[in-house]
Amino acid sequence: MTLHIPFSNAYAQLPGHFYAQVLPGKVKQPALIRFNHQLAAELGFDSTQTDAQTLADIFTGNTILDESEPLAMAYSGHQFGQLNPQLGDGRAILLGDLLDTTGQRKDIQLKGAGTTPFSRMGDGRCPLGPALREYILCEAMHALGVPTTRALAVASTGERVVRDRLEPGAVFTRVASSHIRVGTFQYFALRRDAEALTLLADHVLERHYPHIDTSADDKYLQMFKAICQRQAELIALWMNIGFIHGVMNTDNMTASGETIDYGPCAFIDAFHRETVFSSIDRNGRYAYINQPAIAQWNLARLAETLLSLFPGDEKQSVEQATDILQDFAQWHQDAWLDGFNRKLGFASSAENDKERAEALLDLLQQGGIDFTLFFRRLSDLADKEADRSALLALLDYPEVRKTSLLQQNLNDWLDNWQQDLAHRESDLHAAQQRMKAASPALIPRNHNVQAAIRAAEEGDFSVFENLLSALQQPFADIADDHPLSTPPTPQQQVLKTFCGT
Ligand code: AMP
Ligand code: MG
Repeated sequence: MTLHIPFSNAYAQLPGHFYAQVLPGKVKQPALIRFNHQLAAELGFDSTQTDAQTLADIFTGNTILDESEPLAMAYSGHQFGQLNPQLGDGRAILLGDLLDTTGQRKDIQLKGAGTTPFSRMGDGRCPLGPALREYILCEAMHALGVPTTRALAVASTGERVVRDRLEPGAVFTRVASSHIRVGTFQYFALRRDAEALTLLADHVLERHYPHIDTSADDKYLQMFKAICQRQAELIALWMNIGFIHGVMNTDNMTASGETIDYGPCAFIDAFHRETVFSSIDRNGRYAYINQPAIAQWNLARLAETLLSLFPGDEKQSVEQATDILQDFAQWHQDAWLDGFNRKLGFASSAENDKERAEALLDLLQQGGIDFTLFFRRLSDLADKEADRSALLALLDYPEVRKTSLLQQNLNDWLDNWQQDLAHRESDLHAAQQRMKAASPALIPRNHNVQAAIRAAEEGDFSVFENLLSALQQPFADIADDHPLSTPPTPQQQVLKTFCGT
C-alpha cells in the first residue's frame, strides 16, 4: 500500500532566493534498512501498512509524494572560523513539512539525495557509514533527553559512492523542527538583503518562539536572546553526557536549539577536557571543553546578522547584543552546574558546587577514567555505607593512570561528597534516582558505532539493530559487564572519526 504524508512546505512560501527547487536524483536499487514507525506515528501518519519497497522508494527520493515540494535550502557559514558565503544543501533535499501530533511543524529531509545547485564539487551522495552513524546518534541523543533532529529512515541505494575507497551508498531521512541555521541568517546578511533577513526572522519567531509577542519592537532581540538561552542549555546537556559534536560550524548550529549534523561526533570514554575525535579538527577548535566558547562565538556571528533589526541605533544594538552574549556564558554555566549537581544527587545548588565539580573532573582527567561508567557507578554510592569497590575497580582498567595519590584523592573526594549529600538531602533514595536519571548507563560509544557500521558494510545489520534497540533506554539499569557499556580496550579505541561526506 502506498503512503500518505500530509505535506505542507512553510519554507517554500518564502521568496524563491531562499532555496532552489530541485528533485532528488533517482537511485538504482532502493532497499529499506530501517524505518522509524514510532516516529512516523508521532508525526501523525501511519506507515505500518506500507510495504518496505514503497518506503524505500519514497525515502530515497525515487518516488515523490503528491504534496511534496522538494527544495534545497541556501545558507552560508563559518567553517573552522573561515567564512564560506555559499554553502547550502549540497546533498540534502527538503521534501516538505507537516504538523506532528502535538501541533509542532517538522521538516522531513533526505540526506544523500543527489546534487543540488549548492553541491559545489560534491556528488550529493552519502555513504552508508555516515548515514548509519547519524541514525544511531540522533536516536540515542533523543533517548538521552537532548534536543535533536530525529531519524525517520535509512535506505541503501544499490550504488557505490567514491570516497577514500568505494563505499555503499545510502539515503538518510532526517526530521527537524526546522533546518534553519545561524548560517541561514549569515547568507542574507552577507548579501545585504534586509528584507529577506526580516522574513527569515519572522519565520523563526513564528515557528520556534511563538511565545514572543510579535508586536513588541524588540521582538528580534528577544528572539536572539531565546536562541542564546536554548543553545546555552543544549551545550550544557552535551557536556554532562560527554558528547563532542566535532564540527560546530555556524552552518551546523540551529535556530531551534536542536543538535544537528552528526558528522565526526563522538562520546568521551576516558575523560579528558581537550578530547577531539574529528579527523579534520587539527587544532582542536571543537574539542570537548571548547564547546561552550565556540557556541558563544557562533552566536556572536548570529548577532552580527541581526544588529539592524534590534531597536535603537547601532551602538545600542551592539551593546544589547553584547550583554546577551555575556549572559550566555552565565546561562550555560548555570545549566551545566545544575545538570552536574543532578549527577551528584543534589536537588539544589550551594556555594562550592562548581569547585567540587571541577575537582572531580580533574581527578577523572588525571586518571583517564571512563566518564560514563564513573558517574553511573557513583549513583550507587549516595549512601556512605555503600561498597565502593565497583567504582574503584574503574581504576584497574589497563589504560587508566592509577597512582596511590589518585586513589587517595578520589576517596577523599567521595568522603566529602557523601557527607555533604547526607547533610543537604534528607532522602538519599531520591538522590540516587536523580543521579540515575542524569547519568546514563549506555551511550553510543564510538567503537560500538564503528562496529555496527563495519558489520553493515558487510551486509550484516544485526549489530546496528542491537545497538539501536539498547540505546532506546539509556538510563535503565544494566549488568556491569553489559557488552555495550564497557569502555573500549586499547585495541578497540577509535581515536579519529571521519565525516566521510
Ligand atoms: P556538513 O559537513 O554536513 O556540515 O556539510 C558542509 C557543506 O558541505 C554543506 O553545504 C553540505 O551540503 C556540503 N556537502 C557535504 N557533503 C556533500 C556531498 N557529498 N555533496 C555535495 N555537498 C556536500
Ligand atoms: Mg552541515
